[in-house]
Amino acid sequence: MQHFQALLITKDDSGQKAAWSEIGPADLMPGNVTVRVSHTTMNYKDGLAITGKAPVVRRFPMIPGIDFAGTVLSSEHPRYKPGDAVLLNGWGVGETHMGGYAQVARINGDWLVPLPAGLTAAQSMAIGTAGYTAMLSVLALESHGITPASGPILVTGAAGGVGSVATALLAKLGYRVIASTGRLNEEPYLKSLGATEVIDRSSLAGTPRALNKERWAGAIDSVGSSTLANVISMTSYGGCIAACGLAQGMDLPTSVAPFILRGVTLAGIDSVMAPLAKRQVAWTRLATDMPPAKLAAMTVNEDIKAVTTLAPDILAGKIRGRVVFALP
Ligand code: NDP
Repeated sequence: MQHFQALLITKDDSGQKAAWSEIGPADLMPGNVTVRVSHTTMNYKDGLAITGKAPVVRRFPMIPGIDFAGTVLSSEHPRYKPGDAVLLNGWGVGETHMGGYAQVARINGDWLVPLPAGLTAAQSMAIGTAGYTAMLSVLALESHGITPASGPILVTGAAGGVGSVATALLAKLGYRVIASTGRLNEEPYLKSLGATEVIDRSSLAGTPRALNKERWAGAIDSVGSSTLANVISMTSYGGCIAACGLAQGMDLPTSVAPFILRGVTLAGIDSVMAPLAKRQVAWTRLATDMPPAKLAAMTVNEDIKAVTTLAPDILAGKIRGRVVFALP
């Protein structure tokens, strides 16, 4: 394609702004694989990038979009050839390297994952970084020895992107899932994804005690701050919490008591720089463990031009589940 549409974030003395522009291959950054993007999505970090609420974008101009799926147009990378179906999550794409809100992306082929058998490009973006992070979190609990027999698993921010996928995955794997949400009107939605119990997130919002009544064997937390501190204080002996997000805040007002008196483990989850082998395990598992009907139920398809109006909504916790954009 000689010219194509891209969302460009620019910055000047008056601040940053995002606008759709027609650009050409020379406007993209160096890379050894060019991809015709067919689908992309919106994650919390994309909301931060577009609104400028946090310094996610590290060079200007920038095409945001930390995820995309599509078909290889040209490749100088030994693993990829034209026509291959691929997806990408993270690696600074949409932050330091031109990202997925464009009809064409040029990237380092080492960053790509072949589209796993059993998933369409649209489904892979319905999962997106949020869902792949949920799967990394499930893998962390499993590698810590947590099984459905260990006890219930709490999911915080359950109606959000990471939380919705985590709830559906854990339920499919046979766990009893306690979903914490600030949107109690979403109880039917969360139960349809497989939650067995829905709790009000305000019950995890108070000043955390060092130790509290043991309530769950583990948790997937996309919220952080005092919520995570309360979650840790209520985790059973030998339990594990996968900490992957900061929707409430970056602080963590806890003590060492749960770690040294209950042997609780806090497992940190990073999706951005995770090595390829780990990504492939996560994506292979997603293709088998994510029920397609539940994925469809948590996903809305929007016009890509709506991404700028949806960006503040995701930061305000107003988006339920996942959003997919098909690129024309
Ligand atoms: P979403 O906005 O879709 O979900 C976040 C959810 O958190 C909201 O829907 C809401 O759920 C809850 N929430 C929001 N604000 C608050 C608050 N002040 N207090 C308590 N709960 C709150 O975002 P994503 O699912 O895309 O991302 C979630 C988090 O995970 C983000 O912080 C993101 O940066 C992080 N993340 C980290 C990754 C990594 O590599 N570690 C990768 C992907 C995401 P509800 O309404 O149900 O309460």
